[in-house]
Amino acid sequence: MPRQRPSEFDPPFRSVPAGNGLYLHFPFCRKRCSYCGFVCHAGLDFFIEPYLEALEREIAFYPAWEIATLYLGGGTPSLLASSSLVNLLDRITKHFCLASTAEVTLEVNPGTGSPALWEAARLAGVNRISLGIQALDITTLQLLGRDHTMADIERTVSELRSSGFTDLSFDLLYGLPGQTLKQWDQTLAAAIALTPEHLSLYSLQVEENTLFSAWQRQGLLVLPGEDDERAMLDLLAERLVTADFRRYEISSWSKPGHESAHNRIYWYNRPYIGLGAGAHSYHDGRRYAHGRSVRSYLQDPVPKLSSGRQTRQETMAETLFLGLRLTLEGIWRADFAARFGKDPYEEYGPAIDRLVRLGLLEITPERLRLSPAGIPLANEVFVAFL
Ligand code: SF4
Repeated sequence: MPRQRPSEFDPPFRSVPAGNGLYLHFPFCRKRCSYCGFVCHAGLDFFIEPYLEALEREIAFYPAWEIATLYLGGGTPSLLASSSLVNLLDRITKHFCLASTAEVTLEVNPGTGSPALWEAARLAGVNRISLGIQALDITTLQLLGRDHTMADIERTVSELRSSGFTDLSFDLLYGLPGQTLKQWDQTLAAAIALTPEHLSLYSLQVEENTLFSAWQRQGLLVLPGEDDERAMLDLLAERLVTADFRRYEISSWSKPGHESAHNRIYWYNRPYIGLGAGAHSYHDGRRYAHGRSVRSYLQDPVPKLSSGRQTRQETMAETLFLGLRLTLEGIWRADFAARFGKDPYEEYGPAIDRLVRLGLLEITPERLRLSPAGIPLANEVFVAFL
């Protein structure tokens, strides 16, 4: 029986083709940001060529699997020369079976790249750009240690549009040191004025071994309190709804039809391959990981098993709480039953009943999802299924 689409999926929701997600990590940046805990290095450009060769060796290690989405992330992959980017994409498309409708995303940092790179990327199949904007005033950009200015942001967006990209996503951070509600409002207004199709909004996390963590230890980092952060979240919801964005995942908002297919593979708990230093993979019910060291990756680019085969129970729980991140779709009960042979209610009935009574979950004959009141308390809800 065809399943009924809820009204909020019209106008259309972007579909995800069959196949695995493929993530490729490019761990080089011009400068390290003050908060950065990612696998990335500044000033090691002489490793780029050997790293690209190691990526080729890793690609050859895999069977010619079907690929639904490709994401070139980092780091700053927009530091690649046009010829290197085209060769890399060519190597991937020759080895794997990339779906004809695959979403292919390139992460870009403002102030890097050029019209020639955008043109080469577009012709080589890139159809989506994720821009690491993070903040939209020079004082905050400098505080974050970002290597770009407001003029870089405007120029990069304009170049990408002129090159024909119709799917731009911006990353923005909130809950920043000294940030006020008024500043956050101005950031949101400036971001909306640049007309992206997608926004990923993350609250700042202070990671170990960063400049911010050192400042925090010295008492120099004054972060907004919980109530201020909550007010920032409420404000972003208000502003983005008014600007016709839909929140389809806890941290992700898009214009209809511009939801990220790649990230939805993670939230559907479908298989993915992660190429490069620090990248993670999930296939055959097992998780694999590369260490964070670029030097080790150059010597041995074959991913290592990081966990044994998951039990069915573990996969079910993980599928449930990852799927609940999707605030519009939630868990399709029929899909869950087709995958695990039982409806989620059959497995988690008491927990679901309790969370529905608390007003944190909604259940219908078709699906299970967080209620509006459950979204800010998502972590508490997820724990109930572990
Ligand atoms: S651009 Fe991104 S990956 Fe590079 S240093 Fe800054 S936060 Fe880290």
